[in-house]
Amino acid sequence: MINEVEKEFSFKTKGKYSVSNKIFLDLIFTNKCNCDCRFCIAKTKSYADEDLERWKSSFKKTIEIFKDEIDSLIILGGEATIDLHFFIKLDYIDEVTKDNHIFTILTTNGCLLRSDSFLKRVAESSIDSVNISVMNHEEEHNKYLMRGKTLNRDELKKVYDVLHNQGKTVRFNTNVAKNNLCTLDRLEKYINYFNGCCDTIKLTPLMKTDMFNTEDEVLEYTHEQTMDKSDIKKLFDSLISKHGTKTTNGNVFGLINYAEAYVNSQHVILKYEQVEDMYDLDKVIPTLKLYPNGNLSNE
Ligand code: SF4
Repeated sequence: MINEVEKEFSFKTKGKYSVSNKIFLDLIFTNKCNCDCRFCIAKTKSYADEDLERWKSSFKKTIEIFKDEIDSLIILGGEATIDLHFFIKLDYIDEVTKDNHIFTILTTNGCLLRSDSFLKRVAESSIDSVNISVMNHEEEHNKYLMRGKTLNRDELKKVYDVLHNQGKTVRFNTNVAKNNLCTLDRLEKYINYFNGCCDTIKLTPLMKTDMFNTEDEVLEYTHEQTMDKSDIKKLFDSLISKHGTKTTNGNVFGLINYAEAYVNSQHVILKYEQVEDMYDLDKVIPTLKLYPNGNLSNE
């Protein structure tokens, strides 16, 4: 099971920074999405065009250069599954990494997994782990937050059973904000409601964003709805003290504070703090981002 809580990178000093020995490669398949989440930082005011051949060429070169450093491939969007070239890109990833498989995570809102044939192809692909964004256990509230045709509990359970039977790990991701899962009672309701529908639930505080290209609506939303760090700490501490904890690790990747809990046997990861600027900590985990047009950036 992929578990950030167990993960430690080592760091080497380069100039004034400590730089990790491993890097992440984010593969942004498309900027488009079939949801319209109120907090979506992937929605920006401008996008580059998509270019499959250039994307393939950049991906191949990136793997040739960085194959020994890349810890995992993270497939993202927008919503990656609506990319018309989704399966072409998956096949190409397999072709390029066939001698040296790299752990691959698909991050999705899950809407297309409602289709049996689509789900079967994902289940039979070489993706190792599927992270599904499920914001709230109340269908209406989830729709309010995500503004899309999101899956209900029965559909999510079916998706889990199919993926799990093919050896994939399934994680639900949600953010904790003033209007979402902001009390112990609501957190417990969410976790208990989805018990048995996934391997892990990850709770991450909503973070304020100030990125220059982000849509105004998202900037306003994140500024209004982000909870204070001290309130998040109190909330997560109360969940842990009530249900016990397996591990707390204030030093994952050398810098992020995580904890784990089992709530009525459901495994939960709590990410206490979102690092806003790693450079403030003098530590850097390089993340390469490959965009739909084949451009590669280093963040
Ligand atoms: S599902 Fe993801 S990419 Fe789509 S709108 Fe929501 S946060 Fe953005």
